[in-house]
Amino acid sequence: MLYKTLEKEGYKDFVRNLISDFEFVGPKKKDRAVHDFVTIKSIEELDTDYKRTTIPPAKKILFPPTEELVKYEIRDGIKIKSVVESSEKVLFGINAWDLNAMNFLDKVFSVDFVDENYFAKRKKLIVIGKDCEPTETNFSLSMGAEYVKEGFDLYITELKNKYFVRVGTAKGNDILEKYAEAKDAGQEDFKGYDTYMDEYRKKFSLKAGIKSFYDNFELIYDDDKLWEKIAENCYSCGSCNLVCPTCFCFNVKDDMELNLVDGTKTREWDSCMIPEYGLVAGGHNFRPTKENRLKQRYRCKLKTSLDKYGAYGCVGCGRCIEACLAKIKISEDIDLVKKEVSV
Ligand code: SF4
Ligand code: SF4
Repeated sequence: MLYKTLEKEGYKDFVRNLISDFEFVGPKKKDRAVHDFVTIKSIEELDTDYKRTTIPPAKKILFPPTEELVKYEIRDGIKIKSVVESSEKVLFGINAWDLNAMNFLDKVFSVDFVDENYFAKRKKLIVIGKDCEPTETNFSLSMGAEYVKEGFDLYITELKNKYFVRVGTAKGNDILEKYAEAKDAGQEDFKGYDTYMDEYRKKFSLKAGIKSFYDNFELIYDDDKLWEKIAENCYSCGSCNLVCPTCFCFNVKDDMELNLVDGTKTREWDSCMIPEYGLVAGGHNFRPTKENRLKQRYRCKLKTSLDKYGAYGCVGCGRCIEACLAKIKISEDIDLVKKEVSV
């Protein structure tokens, strides 16, 4: 890792240069409270001082809500053509927890199989992260996701009078050399960065006892009454899945043209919280109740993921807490396990 600094004016020139030379995706204010990552055409549109984005930025690009995978033609035989789309883009301004979520998806889409559609886009994505402040529903500090060590080409932190830049890849270094006038960070810059990080970590007010949840989950797994209580108000709407930067379940559906010759296979996000998720042929449902679905969601994110991928499937972004009309809070439920096992 190399450490560089950029002067404030130099930073603006750097961003302008990237906007002019690349397809540049960054945060833009959508309304009073929410930003969205969209294609940015001028620096005036870019607003990296965001707090909330509903759709997670990396997932939106790499694993979009719907995506055509295959085109086929059925005449004498079957002709199949895979659809793999990718183009070079800069993803600018993604924060640490969303970057950790992208790193998690990198694992998901490469451990059991290498997902060609995902990685074609991932390889062409130039990732430039930037710190931003957490919301009151964010418990990333407890999940170890408030800081990101890898997955980015460049990562920018705004200090009082300059920007501190961590250079994660050779590609990031080339971009910095070509488009900015960066200097090597000195002792004072490291001091400034450490002070910033100390203050930044104090801003994560919401905490969750994840270690205790992980250690004790199996003890409360069969406590039906507890899970009924936790899921009591759940509407099984699936909103928590749709906003989550780490949820990766999808369905693949066939669409046949009326000529009965041409067709496509498309994948679209699925939700483990809706009743149809566990429904199979013959009408049997493996997860018929909302408490069972919520329990499995937590198990997948907070236990199985760590065992299988070496990282939690939750970065503590708080989006599901804000999206849930039933006011179900994953952070409180994580703590509930500790309370249950200690009584
Ligand atoms: S968003 Fe809330 S109500 Fe909807 S499925 Fe998730 S936990 Fe249940
Ligand atoms: S489970 Fe909730 S808090 Fe955790 S990463 Fe997903 S949306 Fe964020």
